[in-house]
Amino acid sequence: MTDWKTQTWFGHDIDAGQHRNTELEISESYSGRNIVIPLRVVRGAEPGPTVFVTGALHGDELNGTGAIRSFLADPEWGPVRGNVLMIPVLNVLGFERHSRYLPDRRDLNRCFPGNASGSMATRMAKVIFDAIVAKCDFGIDLHTAAVRRTNYPNVRCDFKNKECLRLATAFGAGVILDGRGPKGSFRREATAAGCPTIVVEGGEVWKVEPSVVDCMTRGIVNVLQELEMIEGEPEVPENQVKLKQTKWVRAERGGFMDMHVSPGTTVVKGQPLATNSSLVQEDQNRLEAPFDGIVIGMTTLPAVQPGEPVIHLGKLSSPKTVRRVEKQTQADEVQRTAQEHLSTNVQVVEPTD
Ligand SMILES: [Zn+2]
Repeated sequence: MTDWKTQTWFGHDIDAGQHRNTELEISESYSGRNIVIPLRVVRGAEPGPTVFVTGALHGDELNGTGAIRSFLADPEWGPVRGNVLMIPVLNVLGFERHSRYLPDRRDLNRCFPGNASGSMATRMAKVIFDAIVAKCDFGIDLHTAAVRRTNYPNVRCDFKNKECLRLATAFGAGVILDGRGPKGSFRREATAAGCPTIVVEGGEVWKVEPSVVDCMTRGIVNVLQELEMIEGEPEVPENQVKLKQTKWVRAERGGFMDMHVSPGTTVVKGQPLATNSSLVQEDQNRLEAPFDGIVIGMTTLPAVQPGEPVIHLGKLSSPKTVRRVEKQTQADEVQRTAQEHLSTNVQVVEPTD
């Protein structure tokens, strides 16, 4: 869009410096009503990039919704330069059912860039892609762990894409994971279409968790500062961890898990992660760290069967790196608070010999 003074967004002429709540029509209901995505267009007075911030692309993942709504609570909030599209709930049909999926059980986050003559999900994806991604320069997509799991806040992006890595680093969650994302996912297809997009993961479904929201809101401000859309320097933790390899440590036996770690815990190779026992406390086996690492996700459901994922571990290069990461996490208030807060969701017990 070349004319900065007045731009047309979702059918409305919006002047530079103006903010407007509006909606995007994405489908129609069984009763023939429009299904819409509510959103706010926030326009800066001066020219600059256009950035989307989306929550609840999985309809049950609400930490991002909470983070976005905290900005929207202030009608004056907005960038000096550029535009921000604030979208608290992208998957409105999943959200209406407290569900990750669309009513036809499809995952909207595998349907991009979409298809105008395809399934309901791919048609919706196509509308979102054309109306939002095609008109944005950068994107931030906010998620949580899937049901019965929790994530230590982390950013995911394709390290080979310099702009994505720039946004991920500026976001400042402290932990950054390499990867393009699955085929058909919003961030992968948006990035491939020329709109570098990062994913942020933190916490659990069906909750707005204060420490995760704090990490997300700081990160959004940081990215907008990095892009010179709002004043100030990004507040980024020193020496953020860049993870190239992660692994789910899985249960070998069925039974009840006593956890020895919590989200954000750093471990050295061989350190006990969880002990499995029968319901009457007969030890079955113990899971140990396969390498030096940091816990980026874990189950919140302590009852497991063989093969079920228990601890998601990011690989660190050496015990020295483990100590550095631990120090860095403790030095950053947002990360330290997230670690303390998320550890209260799981009972952690000392391993017995
Ligand atoms: Zn998700």
